[in-house]
Parts: sequence; C-alpha cells; structure tokens
Amino acid sequence: MAQLLPHRAEFGGIITNLTREMELAGVNIRKGVSVDCSVIEEFAPDAIVLATGATPRWPEFEGRYTAAVVDAWQVLQGHAKVGKSVVVADWRADWIGIGVAELLAQNGHQVRLAVNGYMPGQTIQMYVRDASIGRLHSLGVEMLPYMRLFGADEDSVYLQHIMSNEAVICEEVDTLVLCQGHVPQNSVEDLVRGMGLEHYLVGDCIAPRTAEEAVFDGLKVGLQL
Ligand SMILES: Cc1cc2nc3c(=O)[nH]c(=O)nc-3n(C[C@H](O)[C@H](O)[C@H](O)COP(=O)(O)OP(=O)(O)OC[C@H]3O[C@@H](n4cnc5c(N)ncnc54)[C@H](O)[C@@H]3O)c2cc1C
Repeated sequence: MAQLLPHRAEFGGIITNLTREMELAGVNIRKGVSVDCSVIEEFAPDAIVLATGATPRWPEFEGRYTAAVVDAWQVLQGHAKVGKSVVVADWRADWIGIGVAELLAQNGHQVRLAVNGYMPGQTIQMYVRDASIGRLHSLGVEMLPYMRLFGADEDSVYLQHIMSNEAVICEEVDTLVLCQGHVPQNSVEDLVRGMGLEHYLVGDCIAPRTAEEAVFDGLKVGLQL
C-alpha cells in the first residue's frame, strides 16, 4: 500500500530486495497462505516468528457509525466510495495522511487535510515532507494544523484545535477519511500461545511503527534463533 501513495513507488523495492535475499538464503517461501492452527501443525516448527502487521485504527468519535467514514487503506485499495468534498483526519502526521490527501486531490476531489500536529508530515523526513506540502499547495488542498477529530455527521466534520480547545467545523463534507494510525494484528499470537509454541513477534504486530523497525526486529530475532 505504501507504494500506492504519490511519489512513493520506490517503496516497493523493499519487497523485491528482501524477497531476493530470502531466495538467495534458501528460504522456502509460500504465498497466499492464511496462517491458522492447521498450517502451524503442518509445518510443525520448533519456533515461530510472527510478523502479522497491523490494521487501521478507528477511534471512537461522535458519528463514527452514522457519517460517511472510510479509512486510508480502503481508499488505497480502491474499496472506498469517496465523495467530491473530503476531509482527511490525520492523527499521525506521517506519510499516509499527506499522501492520501495528494492522491485524492489528483483524482479531482476537493480536499481538506486536518492534521494533529503543527504541519502535515511532521514526523517524516523533511525534504520528503516539504516537497509533498508544495504539491498539496499546488493542488489546492487546504491544510489545517493543530486539529484533532471530534465528530462527524452527514455533511460536516467537527474538529478541535489541540491548543485552544476551540471547535473548528468543516462544512459541506461528503466523506471523512481516517488516517488515525494502526493497531497491532496479533490474533495468530493467541493461537500460538494456546499451542504452547516458542514464538517471537517482529514488526508492527508488536507496535505499529516503520518498515525499518520491522526489518530490524526481524534481524534481531533471526540472530537470536
Ligand atoms: C500507506 C502506508 C504507507 C507507509 N509508508 C511507509 C514509509 O514510507 N516508510 C516506512 O518505513 N513505513 C511506512 N509504512 C509503515 C510500514 O509499511 C510498516 O511499518 C511495515 O510494513 C510493517 O511491517 P510488518 O512486516 O510488521 O507488517 P506488514 O508489512 O503489515 O505485513 C504483515 C503481513 O502479515 C499478513 N498477515 C496477517 N495475518 C496473517 C495470517 N494469519 N496469515 C498469513 N499472513 C498474515 C498481512 O496480510 C501482511 O501481509 C507505511 C504504511 C502504510 C499503511
């Protein structure tokens, strides 16, 4: 999904490169397998390393179940019906909010990007961020810093300024797009624990972070094994 964001195509290289490294190291790779008890029993491993990632976080807020709300993954995977006028509510100020806002603006949506920080992309590398902000400006994306999501209804999104606590209302909104971070996906860990297997967690299933940290976690566990 990361490589589907504008100007992030090179991100896919991490998969190509690490897949090749695994092939060279003689790792037996099976794709398209959903790991459950029967798969684990079939492999009968001495130890299992879980790298099951994370899923989008949907916080509780007023209107969550009634307003037109989608998340960034649904947008990127083409599973979301997104209206003309969009508010992107970005809690993380990382690549996702800034990228989804750009993608939607490129596709003709009218976009407001509300970010819980002092600028979009606050947590990412500054040259990447500044170039993105320049493109958002050219595309006419309205950037709203210092905003936390408070609620939504059928045509408005309610924000709160994080320093003044005052309400900021975005009117005439068709769709709210959530970029609210991730939660670990570790249901397989419950299975593995129940089976009494030696196991290790790496990457976002410990805590959602970055690809770099996921690779580093994997390296440490690999060396330990
Ligand atoms: C849109 C987007 C942009 C990002 N951009 C960047 C960036 O620019 N730089 C950066 O460093 N990070 C970026 N990240 C974060 C980065 O992608 C993650 O931190 C990283 O992919 C975590 O790696 P992982 O191996 O822990 O989990 P993932 O890459 O999420 O992989 C987990 C895999 O496990 C699979 N899985 C789950 N359960 C099962 C099961 N039961 N059986 C079999 N398979 C299962 C999932 O389908 C998935 O393929 C981005 C994330 C997103 C969503």
